[in-house]
Amino acid sequence: MTKQNKAYKYRLLPDREQRIFLAKTFGCVRFVYNKMLEERKEMYEKFKDDKEQLKEQKFPTPAKYKDEFPFLKEVDSLALANAQIHLQNAYKNFFEGRAEFPKFKSKKKKQSYTTNMVNSNIKLENGHIKLPKIKKPIKIKQHREIPADHKIKSCTISKTKTGKYYISILTEYEKDIQSIKIQKVVGLDFAMDGLYVESERGEKANYPRYYRQALDKLAKAQRILSRRKKGSARWEKQRLKVAKLYEKTANQRRNFLHHKSKELATNYDAVIIEDLDMKGMSQALNFGKSVHDNGWGMFTNFLEYKLKEQGKQLVKIDKWFPSTKKCSCCGKEKEIPLSERVYKCSCGFVLDRDHNSAINVKNEGLRLLA
Ligand SMILES: [Zn+2]
Repeated sequence: MTKQNKAYKYRLLPDREQRIFLAKTFGCVRFVYNKMLEERKEMYEKFKDDKEQLKEQKFPTPAKYKDEFPFLKEVDSLALANAQIHLQNAYKNFFEGRAEFPKFKSKKKKQSYTTNMVNSNIKLENGHIKLPKIKKPIKIKQHREIPADHKIKSCTISKTKTGKYYISILTEYEKDIQSIKIQKVVGLDFAMDGLYVESERGEKANYPRYYRQALDKLAKAQRILSRRKKGSARWEKQRLKVAKLYEKTANQRRNFLHHKSKELATNYDAVIIEDLDMKGMSQALNFGKSVHDNGWGMFTNFLEYKLKEQGKQLVKIDKWFPSTKKCSCCGKEKEIPLSERVYKCSCGFVLDRDHNSAINVKNEGLRLLA
């Protein structure tokens, strides 16, 4: 038996009093996060030339601010503790080259906090959820049940820029997962302007047309917003429009990534991908936003857990593996400029460039699996 995690996300419908309390908690979480970040930043400046010393420095804790700022005692202390964990993770990601230096949290962004299940402080019953420090349970729109054998571990409560409240409930359950014999394998080549090209038929997984149209609409709305006078009534109206479009496209993208990862996890026993360093890639190639927004990171996370829960595998191959240079037929390597869409080898092999890469990724994965 192994422990598995699964998250369930629902709309929350807090009343006025509850909304005030949630706002207070978001505010306190943001406050301690920014306080701790400020301290960490100073430490970083002081010791940045001495990585060993920097590692030795103790991380500030939320408890130390409670005397100076007593309002922090009024909210869920687990939420504050989680702010510390989030910041620590953000730091770790920065140091290990996966992310940029953590930024201060702003009131204008999406608001959220995370709390944990401790001694049944969270209860889900009769269409309401009881959360720590909030007296009256909050109404929840539960479109699907959480199975009885799933234990609640933590909850993340969030408020979007358009004022909608959500709760993501992380659960844990035991499952007997047998590793299955790997027979059907597919390799994926990351595609900058879509999602990926697969090795079997050379098919490209591209975002649907309605999504790309929605993105264009969003970009247009953002341009209009940038021309409006900040703080004016017309600006505020447009800001809300942008936020709504943004939420809509984010949902569409998420659904698409769920759909594609589900399809692959159903049809194959192992999926091979390159272990890409997204941050390095967008910097080195100057692609900027498109790589980050492409959704590859989210997609590979979905893929990983969907395969895992069936005893299947996601195999990541080295990011330096020369998947584009190699001829997937004879194994010879050559430089191929980005502008060349077709791979032609002296052995006579001719194939679409990305399809050739995807086959190389697959073959390398098969070698690692053997
Ligand atoms: Zn060849």
